[in-house]
Amino acid sequence: MNESKKRCDALKRRCDALKRRKEYLEIPWTNMRSKVEPSVAEKSLINHSDYLSGQVITASAADISGEAVIRTEGRLVEYTYLVIAAALEYLISFTFPDDVKIKYSDSILIVGGEPSGVELAAEIAVNYPDNKVTLVHDRPRLLESVGQKAGGKALLWLRSKNVEVYLEQSIDLESMSEGDRLYRTSSGIEITADCCFSCLDRPLSSSWIRGSELKDCLDNDGRLMVDVNLRVKGQLNIFAAGDIIDIPVG
Ligand SMILES: Cc1cc2nc3c(=O)[nH]c(=O)nc-3n(C[C@H](O)[C@H](O)[C@H](O)COP(=O)(O)OP(=O)(O)OC[C@H]3O[C@@H](n4cnc5c(N)ncnc54)[C@H](O)[C@@H]3O)c2cc1C
Repeated sequence: MNESKKRCDALKRRCDALKRRKEYLEIPWTNMRSKVEPSVAEKSLINHSDYLSGQVITASAADISGEAVIRTEGRLVEYTYLVIAAALEYLISFTFPDDVKIKYSDSILIVGGEPSGVELAAEIAVNYPDNKVTLVHDRPRLLESVGQKAGGKALLWLRSKNVEVYLEQSIDLESMSEGDRLYRTSSGIEITADCCFSCLDRPLSSSWIRGSELKDCLDNDGRLMVDVNLRVKGQLNIFAAGDIIDIPVG
Protein backbone atom coordinates (compact mmCIF):
# COMPACT_ATOMS: atom_id res chain seq x y z
CA MET A 1 0.00 0.00 0.00
CA ASN A 2 1.52 3.37 -0.91
CA GLU A 3 2.07 6.11 1.67
CA SER A 4 -0.78 8.44 0.60
CA LYS A 5 -3.35 5.60 0.57
CA LYS A 6 -2.22 4.59 4.07
CA ARG A 7 -2.59 8.21 5.24
CA CYS A 8 -6.08 8.54 3.70
CA ASP A 9 -7.20 5.32 5.39
CA ALA A 10 -5.77 6.49 8.71
CA LEU A 11 -7.50 9.87 8.34
CA LYS A 12 -10.83 8.20 7.60
CA ARG A 13 -10.50 5.90 10.62
CA ARG A 14 -9.71 8.86 12.84
CA CYS A 15 -12.57 11.03 11.53
CA ASP A 16 -15.00 8.13 11.99
CA ALA A 17 -13.75 7.72 15.54
CA LEU A 18 -14.13 11.43 16.26
CA LYS A 19 -17.70 11.41 14.91
CA ARG A 20 -18.41 8.80 17.59
CA ARG A 21 -16.09 10.76 19.84
CA LYS A 22 -17.67 10.15 23.20
CA GLU A 23 -17.35 6.39 22.73
CA TYR A 24 -13.61 6.92 22.82
CA LEU A 25 -11.05 8.13 25.25
CA GLU A 26 -8.54 10.31 23.41
CA ILE A 27 -5.42 10.58 25.54
CA PRO A 28 -4.87 14.36 25.82
CA TRP A 29 -1.13 14.33 26.38
CA THR A 30 -0.47 12.67 23.03
CA ASN A 31 -2.09 15.63 21.27
CA MET A 32 1.04 17.66 20.47
CA ARG A 33 3.16 14.67 19.50
CA SER A 34 0.31 13.51 17.24
CA LYS A 35 0.55 16.74 15.27
CA VAL A 36 4.00 15.74 14.01
CA GLU A 37 3.64 11.95 14.12
CA PRO A 38 0.19 10.81 12.93
CA SER A 39 0.70 7.17 13.96
CA VAL A 40 0.67 8.36 17.60
CA ALA A 41 -2.79 9.86 17.05
CA GLU A 42 -4.17 6.53 15.97
CA LYS A 43 -2.80 4.77 19.03
CA SER A 44 -4.18 7.46 21.34
CA LEU A 45 -7.82 6.56 20.73
CA ILE A 46 -9.08 3.94 23.16
CA ASN A 47 -12.56 2.55 22.92
CA HIS A 48 -14.23 2.76 26.35
CA SER A 49 -15.63 -0.74 25.92
CA ASP A 50 -12.05 -2.10 25.78
CA TYR A 51 -11.51 -1.39 29.46
CA LEU A 52 -15.01 -0.90 30.94
CA SER A 53 -17.51 -3.66 31.51
CA GLY A 54 -20.31 -1.27 32.53
CA GLN A 55 -22.68 0.68 30.30
CA VAL A 56 -21.31 3.72 28.42
CA ILE A 57 -23.84 6.47 27.70
CA THR A 58 -22.55 8.95 25.12
CA ALA A 59 -24.21 12.19 26.20
CA SER A 60 -23.46 15.52 27.87
CA ALA A 61 -24.54 16.13 31.45
CA ALA A 62 -26.56 19.34 31.71
CA ASP A 63 -27.88 19.34 35.29
CA ILE A 64 -28.05 17.38 38.54
CA SER A 65 -31.28 17.04 40.41
CA GLY A 66 -32.16 14.75 43.31
CA GLU A 67 -30.37 11.48 42.65
CA ALA A 68 -30.16 11.89 38.89
CA VAL A 69 -27.99 13.52 36.26
CA ILE A 70 -30.02 15.20 33.53
CA ARG A 71 -28.67 14.82 30.01
CA THR A 72 -28.81 17.70 27.50
CA GLU A 73 -31.69 16.06 25.66
CA GLY A 74 -33.60 15.85 28.97
CA ARG A 75 -33.27 12.15 29.82
CA LEU A 76 -32.32 11.16 33.36
CA VAL A 77 -29.49 8.91 34.52
CA GLU A 78 -30.14 7.86 38.10
CA TYR A 79 -27.29 7.16 40.50
CA THR A 80 -26.58 5.87 43.98
CA TYR A 81 -23.08 7.33 43.94
CA LEU A 82 -21.96 9.99 41.47
CA VAL A 83 -18.38 10.86 40.45
CA ILE A 84 -17.94 14.05 38.44
CA ALA A 85 -14.79 14.09 36.27
CA ALA A 86 -15.89 16.48 33.50
CA ALA A 87 -12.93 18.85 33.48
CA LEU A 88 -12.54 20.27 29.99
CA GLU A 89 -14.80 20.35 26.99
CA TYR A 90 -13.88 17.66 24.51
CA LEU A 91 -10.96 18.76 22.35
CA ILE A 92 -11.50 17.97 18.67
CA SER A 93 -7.95 17.90 17.48
CA PHE A 94 -8.35 16.66 13.88
CA THR A 95 -4.71 15.83 14.11
CA PHE A 96 -4.05 14.75 10.54
CA PRO A 97 -4.91 18.12 8.99
CA ASP A 98 -2.68 19.72 11.65
CA ASP A 99 0.12 17.42 10.65
CA VAL A 100 -0.28 18.35 6.98
CA LYS A 101 -0.51 22.05 7.90
CA ILE A 102 2.78 21.87 9.81
CA LYS A 103 4.56 19.92 7.10
CA TYR A 104 3.63 22.36 4.33
CA SER A 105 4.00 25.63 6.27
CA ASP A 106 7.32 27.45 6.08
CA SER A 107 6.42 29.61 9.07
CA ILE A 108 4.38 28.62 12.11
CA LEU A 109 3.12 30.80 14.94
CA ILE A 110 2.23 29.33 18.34
CA VAL A 111 0.31 31.48 20.80
CA GLY A 112 0.66 30.44 24.45
CA GLY A 113 3.85 29.41 26.25
CA GLU A 114 2.58 27.02 28.90
CA PRO A 115 3.12 23.22 28.56
CA SER A 116 1.06 22.73 25.37
CA GLY A 117 2.62 25.65 23.47
CA VAL A 118 6.17 24.83 24.56
CA GLU A 119 5.71 21.16 23.73
CA LEU A 120 4.31 21.94 20.28
CA ALA A 121 7.11 24.42 19.51
CA ALA A 122 9.68 21.80 20.56
CA GLU A 123 8.06 19.03 18.50
CA ILE A 124 8.02 21.19 15.37
CA ALA A 125 11.55 22.50 15.91
CA VAL A 126 12.91 18.96 16.21
CA ASN A 127 10.86 17.35 13.43
CA TYR A 128 10.87 20.25 10.95
CA PRO A 129 14.09 22.15 11.65
CA ASP A 130 13.78 24.14 8.40
CA ASN A 131 10.41 25.62 9.38
CA LYS A 132 10.40 29.02 11.06
CA VAL A 133 8.70 28.69 14.45
CA THR A 134 7.62 31.70 16.52
CA LEU A 135 6.18 31.41 20.03
CA VAL A 136 4.31 34.33 21.64
CA HIS A 137 3.52 34.24 25.36
CA ASP A 138 1.88 36.97 27.44
CA ARG A 139 3.80 36.29 30.69
CA PRO A 140 7.39 37.29 31.59
CA ARG A 141 8.42 33.60 31.63
CA LEU A 142 7.54 30.43 29.79
CA LEU A 143 5.98 27.58 31.79
CA GLU A 144 4.91 29.74 34.74
CA SER A 145 2.58 26.94 35.82
CA VAL A 146 5.56 24.56 36.05
CA GLY A 147 8.24 26.71 37.69
CA GLN A 148 10.93 29.32 37.19
CA LYS A 149 13.75 26.84 36.46
CA ALA A 150 11.70 24.97 33.86
CA GLY A 151 10.74 28.22 32.11
CA GLY A 152 14.36 29.35 31.88
CA LYS A 153 15.55 25.99 30.54
CA ALA A 154 12.75 25.82 27.99
CA LEU A 155 13.56 29.32 26.73
CA LEU A 156 17.27 28.53 26.27
CA TRP A 157 16.52 25.22 24.56
CA LEU A 158 13.92 26.68 22.18
CA ARG A 159 16.23 29.54 21.21
CA SER A 160 19.04 27.02 20.58
CA LYS A 161 16.70 25.39 18.04
CA ASN A 162 16.05 28.77 16.35
CA VAL A 163 12.54 29.16 17.75
CA GLU A 164 11.81 32.88 18.04
CA VAL A 165 10.22 33.53 21.45
CA TYR A 166 8.41 36.77 22.36
CA LEU A 167 7.52 37.17 26.04
CA GLU A 168 5.05 39.65 27.57
CA GLN A 169 3.28 39.92 24.23
CA SER A 170 -0.21 38.81 23.35
CA ILE A 171 -2.04 38.34 20.07
CA ASP A 172 -5.76 38.88 19.69
CA LEU A 173 -6.66 35.77 17.73
CA GLU A 174 -10.38 36.63 17.86
CA SER A 175 -9.76 39.55 15.53
CA MET A 176 -8.05 37.39 12.89
CA SER A 177 -9.86 36.04 9.84
CA GLU A 178 -9.41 32.78 7.97
CA GLY A 179 -6.46 33.13 5.61
CA ASP A 180 -4.79 36.05 7.45
CA ARG A 181 -1.02 35.63 7.53
CA LEU A 182 0.04 38.83 9.26
CA TYR A 183 -0.23 38.84 13.05
CA ARG A 184 0.46 41.83 15.28
CA THR A 185 1.45 41.51 18.95
CA SER A 186 0.23 43.83 21.72
CA SER A 187 3.37 45.95 21.39
CA GLY A 188 3.10 46.14 17.60
CA ILE A 189 5.58 43.46 16.50
CA GLU A 190 4.48 42.03 13.16
CA ILE A 191 4.80 38.30 12.59
CA THR A 192 4.06 36.61 9.30
CA ALA A 193 3.04 32.97 9.56
CA ASP A 194 1.53 30.42 7.18
CA CYS A 195 -0.36 28.83 10.04
CA CYS A 196 -1.07 29.49 13.69
CA PHE A 197 -1.86 27.25 16.67
CA SER A 198 -3.64 28.58 19.71
CA CYS A 199 -2.30 26.87 22.84
CA LEU A 200 -4.18 29.07 25.29
CA ASP A 201 -5.88 27.71 28.40
CA ARG A 202 -9.26 26.18 27.73
CA PRO A 203 -11.99 26.95 30.25
CA LEU A 204 -13.22 24.30 32.66
CA SER A 205 -16.45 22.62 31.68
CA SER A 206 -18.27 23.52 34.89
CA SER A 207 -20.81 26.05 33.63
CA TRP A 208 -23.47 23.30 33.67
CA ILE A 209 -22.75 22.73 37.39
CA ARG A 210 -23.18 26.45 38.06
CA GLY A 211 -26.89 26.15 37.28
CA SER A 212 -27.36 22.97 39.30
CA GLU A 213 -27.94 21.99 42.95
CA LEU A 214 -24.13 21.83 43.31
CA LYS A 215 -23.55 25.49 42.45
CA ASP A 216 -22.43 26.32 46.00
CA CYS A 217 -19.82 23.55 45.82
CA LEU A 218 -17.82 25.42 43.15
CA ASP A 219 -14.98 27.73 44.08
CA ASN A 220 -14.33 31.07 42.35
CA ASP A 221 -12.36 29.33 39.57
CA GLY A 222 -15.25 26.97 38.82
CA ARG A 223 -13.62 23.95 40.49
CA LEU A 224 -15.53 21.54 42.71
CA MET A 225 -14.45 21.79 46.34
CA VAL A 226 -13.71 18.33 47.76
CA ASP A 227 -12.53 16.89 51.08
CA VAL A 228 -9.59 14.49 51.55
CA ASN A 229 -11.77 11.61 50.34
CA LEU A 230 -12.65 13.52 47.14
CA ARG A 231 -16.21 13.86 48.42
CA VAL A 232 -17.82 17.06 47.15
CA LYS A 233 -18.26 19.65 49.91
CA GLY A 234 -21.48 19.03 51.88
CA GLN A 235 -22.51 15.99 49.81
CA LEU A 236 -22.87 12.38 50.96
CA ASN A 237 -22.79 10.41 47.75
CA ILE A 238 -21.20 12.76 45.22
CA PHE A 239 -17.47 12.64 44.55
CA ALA A 240 -15.24 14.41 42.05
CA ALA A 241 -11.88 13.62 40.50
CA GLY A 242 -9.34 14.95 38.02
CA ASP A 243 -8.78 18.51 36.86
CA ILE A 244 -12.29 19.63 37.96
CA ILE A 245 -11.38 19.51 41.68
CA ASP A 246 -9.89 22.31 43.76
CA ILE A 247 -6.90 20.30 45.01
CA PRO A 248 -3.80 21.66 43.25
CA VAL A 249 -1.51 19.23 41.41
CA GLY A 250 1.71 18.26 43.24
C1 LIG B 1 -1.41 18.67 25.23
C2 LIG B 1 -1.54 18.19 26.66
C3 LIG B 1 -0.46 17.59 27.28
C4 LIG B 1 -0.55 17.16 28.60
N1 LIG B 1 0.52 16.55 29.17
C5 LIG B 1 0.43 16.06 30.42
C6 LIG B 1 1.51 15.36 31.03
O1 LIG B 1 2.56 15.15 30.42
N2 LIG B 1 1.36 14.91 32.31
C7 LIG B 1 0.20 15.10 33.01
O2 LIG B 1 0.09 14.66 34.15
N3 LIG B 1 -0.84 15.77 32.45
C8 LIG B 1 -0.75 16.25 31.20
N4 LIG B 1 -1.81 16.91 30.65
C9 LIG B 1 -2.98 17.18 31.48
C10 LIG B 1 -3.87 15.94 31.53
O3 LIG B 1 -4.26 15.60 30.23
C11 LIG B 1 -5.08 16.31 32.38
O4 LIG B 1 -4.62 16.56 33.69
C12 LIG B 1 -6.07 15.16 32.40
O5 LIG B 1 -6.53 14.90 31.08
C13 LIG B 1 -7.27 15.53 33.27
O6 LIG B 1 -8.16 14.47 33.21
P1 LIG B 1 -9.66 14.65 33.59
O7 LIG B 1 -10.29 13.29 33.42
O8 LIG B 1 -9.80 15.32 34.89
O9 LIG B 1 -10.30 15.66 32.54
P2 LIG B 1 -10.31 15.68 30.96
O10 LIG B 1 -9.18 14.93 30.36
O11 LIG B 1 -10.49 17.12 30.61
O12 LIG B 1 -11.63 14.88 30.58
C14 LIG B 1 -12.91 15.41 30.84
C15 LIG B 1 -13.90 14.66 29.98
O13 LIG B 1 -15.19 15.06 30.39
C16 LIG B 1 -16.00 15.24 29.24
N5 LIG B 1 -17.02 16.26 29.59
C17 LIG B 1 -16.83 17.59 29.76
N6 LIG B 1 -18.01 18.17 30.10
C18 LIG B 1 -18.93 17.17 30.13
C19 LIG B 1 -20.33 17.13 30.42
N7 LIG B 1 -21.04 18.20 30.76
N8 LIG B 1 -20.96 15.93 30.34
C20 LIG B 1 -20.26 14.80 30.02
N9 LIG B 1 -18.95 14.77 29.75
C21 LIG B 1 -18.30 15.95 29.81
C22 LIG B 1 -15.07 15.73 28.15
O14 LIG B 1 -15.57 15.36 26.89
C23 LIG B 1 -13.79 14.99 28.49
O15 LIG B 1 -13.71 13.79 27.77
C24 LIG B 1 -1.77 17.34 29.32
C25 LIG B 1 -2.87 17.93 28.68
C26 LIG B 1 -2.77 18.34 27.37
C27 LIG B 1 -3.98 18.96 26.68
